Amino acid sequence: AFNAWLIERDEGGYRCAPRTLSAADLPEGDVLVRVRYSSLNYKDGLAVTGKGKIARRFPLVPGIDLAGEVVESAASDFKPGDQVLITGCEIGELHWGGYSQYQRVRAQWLVPIPAPFDARLAMGIGTAGFTAALAVLALEDHGIGPDLGPMVVTGAAGGVGSIAVVLLARAGYRVVASTGRAGERGPFLRELGAAEVIEREVLAAPCRPLESETYGGGVDTVGGQTLASLIARTRHGGAVAACGLAGGHELHTTVFPFILRGVSLLGINSVILPPERRRRAWDRLAADLPVEVLERLIRVEPMSRLRELAEDIVAGRIAGRVVIDVDA
Ligand code: NAP
Repeated sequence: AFNAWLIERDEGGYRCAPRTLSAADLPEGDVLVRVRYSSLNYKDGLAVTGKGKIARRFPLVPGIDLAGEVVESAASDFKPGDQVLITGCEIGELHWGGYSQYQRVRAQWLVPIPAPFDARLAMGIGTAGFTAALAVLALEDHGIGPDLGPMVVTGAAGGVGSIAVVLLARAGYRVVASTGRAGERGPFLRELGAAEVIEREVLAAPCRPLESETYGGGVDTVGGQTLASLIARTRHGGAVAACGLAGGHELHTTVFPFILRGVSLLGINSVILPPERRRRAWDRLAADLPVEVLERLIRVEPMSRLRELAEDIVAGRIAGRVVIDVDA
């Protein structure tokens, strides 16, 4: 028997609570993983609290990330003892996820944990860091270089945001960190590489369809007016990678930035993507996210505190990244 959290939905309503499971309860799959760590993402917060429609099967073990070692494998490319991770792939949504000491998964979802990371550090990155890497790659693939102007990261104190700040700064961009916690987190964001820290309200205020051309673009985790404002301030030929909706899922803009300035809006989806792109993003993280910087972004919390932590991330009270110790 082992510990897991389970989401159930029946006449009693929606519940997410700790449960004791056995191997026979686990879903089908070709690889059995002894999970050591999971992580806490905004989406996990929505799933655990029930504040967002994330779970698409009941009962469901939540947790969109996991890392640990292979215990049993029917797949030729993995053997017992291999250190592996999963981010996305619809675990914690449609398939059973990481908030469990054991999980049975499909080999095609697994990524070997790249050096210099281990299971704890890999979950320090998790979906959030992986998404930040995808966003930076998307901007670069679009031809956006540091010469086009400063790049804005919105929701900069959060998981995706703080790792995006590190990756962009290390790639030579001048990074403008937009945050609602400039006082508390501003100095730390500068240490991560931000050249400038601006208050969340600057971009959250209503704006004209075209504002003065200020930025090369950016990585947006907030959505809503913030994203619209960033698009309106993006220079000719620039691009914004849209990752999130922490501030709202709506987007009211005009076609002017797109047709008069050739601005591009690049959509980022970290859940389903080709293995090749997954590997590229992990390679980028291994190369550009130093372990000592990552350590400063991470806080390890016991799985027993999941409910409180979930409330906290949905309320925007979590800074950096929370790693979940599934054994505690
Ligand atoms: P997080 O750690 O909670 O970061 C979100 C940040 O957004 C907060 O730290 C806060 O930053 C800011 N924020 C929160 N509430 C806000 C509000 N009402 N108005 C404006 N800003 C607000 O969450 P995360 O895990 O990094 O995820 C960030 C977003 O990206 C979420 O919407 C998530 O669903 C999305 N996401 C998408 C993908 C994808 O595949 N597209 C993958 C991962 C995450 P400050 O304190 O700095 O203001």
